[in-house]
Amino acid sequence: MRAVTVSPRVPDSLRLIEEWPEPAPEEGAILVEALAVGVCGTDQEIIAGAYGEAPPGQDRLVLGHESLGRVLEDPTGTLQAGDLVAGIVRHPDPVPCPNCAVDEWDMCRNGQYTEHGIKALPGFARDRWRVQPKFAVGLDPVLAPVGMLLEPTSVVAKAWDHIERIGRRAEWKPQTVLVTGAGPIGLLAALLATQRGLSVHVLDRATEGPKPDLVRALGATYHATPVTELDFAPDVVVECTGAPVVVLDAMFKAGPTGIVCLTGVSSGGRTIDFDAGALNRALVLENNVVLGSVNANRRHWELAAEALARADQAWLNSLISRRVPVEAYAEAYTTGPEDIKVVLDFTA
Ligand SMILES: [Zn+2]
Repeated sequence: MRAVTVSPRVPDSLRLIEEWPEPAPEEGAILVEALAVGVCGTDQEIIAGAYGEAPPGQDRLVLGHESLGRVLEDPTGTLQAGDLVAGIVRHPDPVPCPNCAVDEWDMCRNGQYTEHGIKALPGFARDRWRVQPKFAVGLDPVLAPVGMLLEPTSVVAKAWDHIERIGRRAEWKPQTVLVTGAGPIGLLAALLATQRGLSVHVLDRATEGPKPDLVRALGATYHATPVTELDFAPDVVVECTGAPVVVLDAMFKAGPTGIVCLTGVSSGGRTIDFDAGALNRALVLENNVVLGSVNANRRHWELAAEALARADQAWLNSLISRRVPVEAYAEAYTTGPEDIKVVLDFTA
């Protein structure tokens, strides 16, 4: 069968292998036929050789962590043949740490977790894969064209879950949300904000291309201005750029009792001048919280599946910029300015 693979840490080692072995039974009882795999910046960094780790004893890593497939067989009876399914990316560390011990692998404390298509577990960019029931998430049949969005949606479902848990520290009636960055994560964070009935603002550098219209189609307001020029103080900020100036401006901009959730990963290595004392003062005097959020556990995957099932399916479809047949795989990993989400199509 076909598999899209890299030799981890070797730049430009991306290859489609036609004779990849069938998934091993140890990978899980549920056998799945791949429908599609979403592509994101993490894949591009792995292809560039920045990171990635093959399973023990192997020299190639199958890519793909944004999965969508159809169940071929499930002898455990958890799912039925024909059901749509996605595989949870992260598995708990073997120690396990206190969080992984209770299946909060998104909060792993020792970094020894493994991740499909990224770290020591084979990815989902292959014709067939297997998954254990514990890591298999069923999807509503309506999501067949867009179910590969479940993984990025799980990331924002976790962000919202943690924002709301923090909000419950006191009386909390949020009204306005600022999402910085209108890539897939930012747009999905905005979707979940609109589902909560909040007044949603999305900020991005783009003045053309699909982003402004995608934001407006949600009923949200699009801003192509610096954060400092916004004329409101958001109750919640979901930061999805990782751009240092945007991150700092967002922390200063949040209103009283504001919660700033950082989801963008900065590359680091650049320094900028800022007044740390003024930031401390702004955070303390307004009871503000800044938190980082990464990955998702099973509960968040299930919340994400519900959120996608009740979203406007045409809007979700419009996030998919291109569907690239597996045979043209390399085209999926070279993204352009007009691309929101590119997917590898295993059915073509
Ligand atoms: Zn752990």
